[in-house]
Amino acid sequence: KKYVYMFKEGHADMKDVLGGKGANLAEMTRAGLPVPPGFTIATDACREFYRAGETVTTEIQQQIDQALAELEEKVGKKLGDPADPLLVSVRSGAKFSMPGMMDTILNLGLNDATVQGLAELSGNDRFAYDCYRRFIQMFSDVVLGVDHYHFENILDQVKETRGVKLDTDLQAEDWKEVVSRYKELVRKETRAEFPQDPKVQLDKAVHAVFKSWNNQRAQVYRRINKIPDDLGTAVNIQIMVFGNLGDDSGTGVAFTRNPSTGENELYGEFLINAQGEDVVAGIRTPQPISALKDVMPGIYQQFKEIAHRLESRYKDMQDIEFTVERGKLYMLQTRNGKRTAQAAVKVAVDMVKEGLISKEEALLRVDPNILDQLLFRRIDPAAQLEVVAKGLPASPGAASGIVVFDADTADKLGHEGKKVILVRPETTPEDIHGMVAAQGIVTSRGGMTSHAAVVARGMGKPCICGCEALRIDLRAKQVTVEDKVIKEGDWISIDGGTGRVLLGEVPLIDPVLSAEFKQLLDWADEIRKIDVRANADNPEDAAKAREFGAQGIGLCRTEHMFMALDRVPIVQEMILAETEEERRIALDKLLPMQQGDFEGILSAMEGLPVTIRLLDPPLHEFLPNFEELLVELTKLRMSPDSDPVLIREKEALLRKVRALQEFNPMLGHRGCRLGMTFPEIYEMQVVAIFRAAANLKQKGIDVHPEVMIPLVGHVNELRIMRELVVEKANEVMEETGQAFEYTIGTMIEIPRAALTAGEIATEADFFSFGTNDLTQTTFGFSRDDAEGKFLHQYVQHKVLPDNPFIVLDQSGVGKLIQMAEQLGRSVKPGLKLGICGEHGGEKSSIEFCYKNGLNYVSCSPFRVPIARLAAAQATL
Ligand code: PEP
Ligand code: MG
Repeated sequence: KKYVYMFKEGHADMKDVLGGKGANLAEMTRAGLPVPPGFTIATDACREFYRAGETVTTEIQQQIDQALAELEEKVGKKLGDPADPLLVSVRSGAKFSMPGMMDTILNLGLNDATVQGLAELSGNDRFAYDCYRRFIQMFSDVVLGVDHYHFENILDQVKETRGVKLDTDLQAEDWKEVVSRYKELVRKETRAEFPQDPKVQLDKAVHAVFKSWNNQRAQVYRRINKIPDDLGTAVNIQIMVFGNLGDDSGTGVAFTRNPSTGENELYGEFLINAQGEDVVAGIRTPQPISALKDVMPGIYQQFKEIAHRLESRYKDMQDIEFTVERGKLYMLQTRNGKRTAQAAVKVAVDMVKEGLISKEEALLRVDPNILDQLLFRRIDPAAQLEVVAKGLPASPGAASGIVVFDADTADKLGHEGKKVILVRPETTPEDIHGMVAAQGIVTSRGGMTSHAAVVARGMGKPCICGCEALRIDLRAKQVTVEDKVIKEGDWISIDGGTGRVLLGEVPLIDPVLSAEFKQLLDWADEIRKIDVRANADNPEDAAKAREFGAQGIGLCRTEHMFMALDRVPIVQEMILAETEEERRIALDKLLPMQQGDFEGILSAMEGLPVTIRLLDPPLHEFLPNFEELLVELTKLRMSPDSDPVLIREKEALLRKVRALQEFNPMLGHRGCRLGMTFPEIYEMQVVAIFRAAANLKQKGIDVHPEVMIPLVGHVNELRIMRELVVEKANEVMEETGQAFEYTIGTMIEIPRAALTAGEIATEADFFSFGTNDLTQTTFGFSRDDAEGKFLHQYVQHKVLPDNPFIVLDQSGVGKLIQMAEQLGRSVKPGLKLGICGEHGGEKSSIEFCYKNGLNYVSCSPFRVPIARLAAAQATL
């Protein structure tokens, strides 16, 4: 079996085998671009490595040795040859790019003898020893497990004794000293000499790269990005070219378009006299790529042409790494660039206009799940802002939170539900859990392609990089900006779109859609075949939803209207009423308020259907908490001057609260069960809906109310509730002299309703799948408790593929939906079907709904654009 491929043997479509990096190096080699030669050890070899108990099998080893011999032959150098040593880089590269998650080693092949050879060949001692110390540091960190900060400490000490600030100020003798102290450190830490045999170095490096597939940060990254664990990584071995040979050398990273905005312009950074990791690690702050034009005009022109060629070849924005060695350009990597949602949309739409890709292709290019970045909030322009510093706008969006200085604290506070902003000098892949937990990230060093910037963009989190005005003191846990001191726990806000760091918490506002985004969504609307509605409970949300393209309201939860501060006392009065008569008095007060609510929503949705659900939650949700009330009452009783009337009132309230307490409230007295036992509540709501409809109709406003009965499990419940609704509709028509249209339907959110959907359909004009409750009742998982108690672990350990409250469980809950569809439509072929649980805004669930004949999905207003795109993708 073939496990090792020379670059010239592969091509771009071999990502499965060669990994992304290997496949693209092969493709560039094939296209005749200046790529330093090398070979790729295939991902199969990594899988085989794990199968064989973490060893490289003889068969694979032989193929590596053979490829190495071929490489030596080709370039006319030999690994370990003191006169003319071959030096290589060893880089990981999986099928899906996992930036910075796995390991890389540069300058491999150096030892005490070859470093001399390198010095002589380059005529540059300083350079050779700089390479050697870099190699010792990287190799020791990755292969021998000696933490890199030990090395940093030594370097700092040497710089201090020499009285210099920058690495570039150190001379050959200084680097020699660094090298010998590094070797001493390795001896002390590993109780062995630093390996001098380049072949041993190579074998150990390959082993370490395979092992890095399973390091913790790679596992976390795969989990977040849903990359399968069993793919394995390829290993790329490539001859070194040196960007640190002097001022006619350099290294850089560039995107063919701006990865933040999508603007069609070469975008990136480079450093003169540096090696690749200097750019990415954010240790020195690089220059913008446009400045390369002045420093190396010929190289700039050549690079620009190659960039353009690569983009046309891949028909996508490229992220390119390059090195210049003594005035000659080399391409080290190209890949489809990671980008913000804003850039993804703009690049896709622009490429259609440029004739590079089709509309369908453009629609498939944008992952709906990242679009919420565009729908992110930004800072209210009217707000008073106290800008304390400005850095690079590395990832757009705005956020407020308390400052924390390390990833572990961010992670801990994040899990406690606190909003945090992670502030670091720079981030490394070790900080990833803190970045996940944070609302946003700020670094004081590093550029737009630094780790923090790349990772934050991928996560869709606001991020500011290279904010050099911040003087971060990690030990004192504070940051100083000019004369201001910000301590851990203080509030700050960041605006990743402009790079501004602000003091305190600032008001955020809703986003507006760009022209390209609208264009893409219009294309989506042309081809999608399932409607998108929104879940909205007030006129503002309804208007927002409509602006985002909602085709109606799929769920208006009326209980939210009961929770308004001024209404709670009346709602409580209704609940506490001892008799129906008393209850009706309270309901009469609520009626005009509800009618106003419905008028607002129905007119905001003029011409479109509005599904209004009658009261659903258990009534105790509107009452004070039992324990708190008990404490309050005890205090009143103990205090000698309490008002006895007040005490009696509180006692009555406490009794009522206790009476309403249930062991399983979500399975208790809620939904249509309330309507069955207190029909007067539903009557009031229905009258409010119909009076609103009649009233608007009289004003010439086109309204389409759809009354929805929640939590039905038996057809008789729906039959009785339907009679109530019809009776009230007739009464209102009579009383107002105004006819109006309406429909009556039910939620399918109890398994029994799905199982008996044929019977239920006889009483329903529509079904709306309440997949939040349907998931809860099908799994028997409490939707309020499961997440924190065990579901998190279930997902982490892959007991379940996803959280079923987010991603519809197609094989279980989905089967009930399919059954309800078939049974319902067999009785009533035109039965309208929709979904209004959270899943209505989730990509894979939307696809399921489309494939199973639902007429619409309904989701929160901010997810409407996402759903429009996902619905289009479902048809492609
Ligand atoms: C549902 O159960 O899916 C639903 C939409 O209703 P709620 O979330 O209000 O229970
Ligand atoms: Mg429900």
